[in-house]
Amino acid sequence: MKIDYNEILQQITLDLKNIKYKGDVANYIPELKSVDPNKFGISLQFLNKRGYNSGDFNIKFSIQSVSKVFALAMAFEKLGNKIWHRVGVEPSGTSFNSLLQLEYENGIPRNPFINAGALVVCDILIDLLSEPKKDFLKFVQKLAGNIHIQYNKNVARSESEVGYRNASLAYLLKDFGNIKNPVDKVLDFYFHICSIEMTCEELSKSFLVFANHGINPHNKEKILSESKTKRLNALMQSCGFYDESGEFTFTVGLPGKSGVGGGIAAIFPGEFAISVWSPRLNKKGNSILGMKALELFTTISGKSVF
Ligand code: GLN
Repeated sequence: MKIDYNEILQQITLDLKNIKYKGDVANYIPELKSVDPNKFGISLQFLNKRGYNSGDFNIKFSIQSVSKVFALAMAFEKLGNKIWHRVGVEPSGTSFNSLLQLEYENGIPRNPFINAGALVVCDILIDLLSEPKKDFLKFVQKLAGNIHIQYNKNVARSESEVGYRNASLAYLLKDFGNIKNPVDKVLDFYFHICSIEMTCEELSKSFLVFANHGINPHNKEKILSESKTKRLNALMQSCGFYDESGEFTFTVGLPGKSGVGGGIAAIFPGEFAISVWSPRLNKKGNSILGMKALELFTTISGKSVF
């Protein structure tokens, strides 16, 4: 039977509107406090160019930690397996900005998708790129097939003004010798990559490369080798949702990545990318309705990698 994706997305949007749920927008970054908590958007984009959208799919939001996937893709392709000397590939089982484990484990972050790991990836990129902020943005624009993707300077500044915990992580990493560049430079780059804004539709389109064995579907350029793409997807599966990565695998069953802006992007290898945005977060920093929407989607469509 042919699956009616339009119908599925409309139904999910309607069903979720009726759920009375708690949770709040990320309020530790002042600039994100003003986001309307009731927004909900979803976008499903296939490699065969078919696309289906529903709700607030066309409104830009702060993708935050979702951009850690782009940063890893860029660093992994450039540095290869040497990257794993400085960051691990295990789920952390701790919150995204935890300091504890980093001290115990001598400054080697568990994986590239917790903040400490992403800070190390940023440090690596600063060494590899001639103009890190410019080059990274260009890379993301290429993946999105869209030159209008931008940083939100206000969000980056707002986060840097209160980024004490990320600064603590960066100094601890520096003390262990796992950050080579000046801490301020690494933090500034990190806050910028987190501040990228996209709509659900743009985010899905920019994740298609990970469903397409590393080939950018917009210009056919090979961004990441097939083997590295598999590994990056494996990391999304095991580490994409901090200490809720098991839960996401259990209930949704797709490799994906969340951000505290309330966005989630996920992929089904060889077929599609799907993004959801709903700013209310649970205690673990993941979008409550975003997770619910993707659970409904994979249940109804039967499209999970398992
Ligand atoms: N910029 C945010 C931070 O570093 C990203 C966290 C997230 O999206 N989980 O705290």
